Amino acid sequence: MVGGGIAGTMLAWRLIRHAGVDVDLITGPDGADDATRASGGLVRAFDPDPALAELATRSLRELRASALLRQWSGYQETGSLYLRAEPATGPRHPRTPTPDAAELLDRHALAARYGLTGLPEHTTAVLEHHAGYFSPDLLRRGARADFTARGGHLDHGVLREIRPGPAGVAYRTNQGWANADAVVLAAGAWTGRLLTDCDLPPIGVRTKVIQCAVYATGTGRNTGTGTDTGTDTGTGRHPLPAFVDETSGLYGRPAGPGRMLLGLPTQRWDVPPGPQPFMDREERAVRRALAQRLPGLQINPPHRFVAVAEAYVPEGRLELRPVPGHHPALFTFTGGSGGAAKTALAAGAGAAADLLGHLGQPGHPAVRPSTHPNTEDTRPTPIPEGERR
Ligand SMILES: Cc1cc2nc3c(=O)[nH]c(=O)nc-3n(C[C@H](O)[C@H](O)[C@H](O)COP(=O)(O)OP(=O)(O)OC[C@H]3O[C@@H](n4cnc5c(N)ncnc54)[C@H](O)[C@@H]3O)c2cc1C
Repeated sequence: MVGGGIAGTMLAWRLIRHAGVDVDLITGPDGADDATRASGGLVRAFDPDPALAELATRSLRELRASALLRQWSGYQETGSLYLRAEPATGPRHPRTPTPDAAELLDRHALAARYGLTGLPEHTTAVLEHHAGYFSPDLLRRGARADFTARGGHLDHGVLREIRPGPAGVAYRTNQGWANADAVVLAAGAWTGRLLTDCDLPPIGVRTKVIQCAVYATGTGRNTGTGTDTGTDTGTGRHPLPAFVDETSGLYGRPAGPGRMLLGLPTQRWDVPPGPQPFMDREERAVRRALAQRLPGLQINPPHRFVAVAEAYVPEGRLELRPVPGHHPALFTFTGGSGGAAKTALAAGAGAAADLLGHLGQPGHPAVRPSTHPNTEDTRPTPIPEGERR
């Protein structure tokens, strides 16, 4: 497994739980510059894309059902609000079922509950009560510790070269050459460059900047910081949960007491991987969108700045894909497209099942125990049948 972001780590973690499967996780540098470290970590079940919604729903279910995964990831259940400029009876709604414990709100309810203004007439929002945000960085660290406790091998070097090998693929890292039945490139925004450097065909991965910032919010009434789960008795308004507003592009979440993380999508495509310049003009656009949608929310100048490249694929989701001409020994598992943190648990399980199938180990029944001190509630279970495609 090449890449120690949330994609590579969760897939390696799924695989190592199966006795008889040996996994080397080549992490690259310490992850300080990757999308997993920078991620806003919003998690919810709803998405307008049904395939993404299914993955997100399964991931959220697994996360909420496991005390260990919640603890590893620092999950905060603030709720989630997803706004769309489409009536609840619109053509796309029947294909995107509302998750459990959710409500549909119209723009009048959104104004009354959250002080949201200037919304298009037919705005509908899906409010999920059992959703929120987590730290993808903490989740990968927890999974990485459990990976090694189950006998997985960590290599902190970088992948430098790949060739067809005697039994699959030969690859070279800082530690020299090794052989594997299969190699998975899960190097996020670095994947395109890695394929080119290894003389492999490109697979349509592009990069784009995601920029957001953390703001201290005003202290007046209904500042919407989401740290209070109750209703403001003066205004009847609710604290703002994690939210995505498709009608303006604005997204955000509470970020601790009196703080909010806020951002807007950028159009900075095809940038080099890693950290990017933080653009003031994009930050000003966030303030303008906020003034239109949430005029009651006062924010101070940002104090944490995030601008990092992310890998995008046309399908818009994290998925295992064979590298053309190298099936079934070489795969990519990348293309988070701005939203893979919330799908990584289910996408990793699905990719592990696919890989085991490719390697001729479908339904591998035996499980490998962990020596990790904190794994009581994640007894290693085989990948569920439903995950096998
Ligand atoms: C600012 C920002 C905010 C986001 N907010 C959200 C959100 O709110 N909700 C959500 O669901 N998703 C969000 N995302 C998306 C999500 O975080 C990403 O899709 C996900 O983290 C991608 O993980 P990854 O493992 O594919 O890539 P990365 O995390 O980038 O990891 C790739 C890894 O590969 C390593 N690597 C590179 N080259 C090599 C090599 N040659 N050899 C070995 N290793 C190598 C790198 O060091 C890196 O650690 C956000 C992303 C960003 C950037």
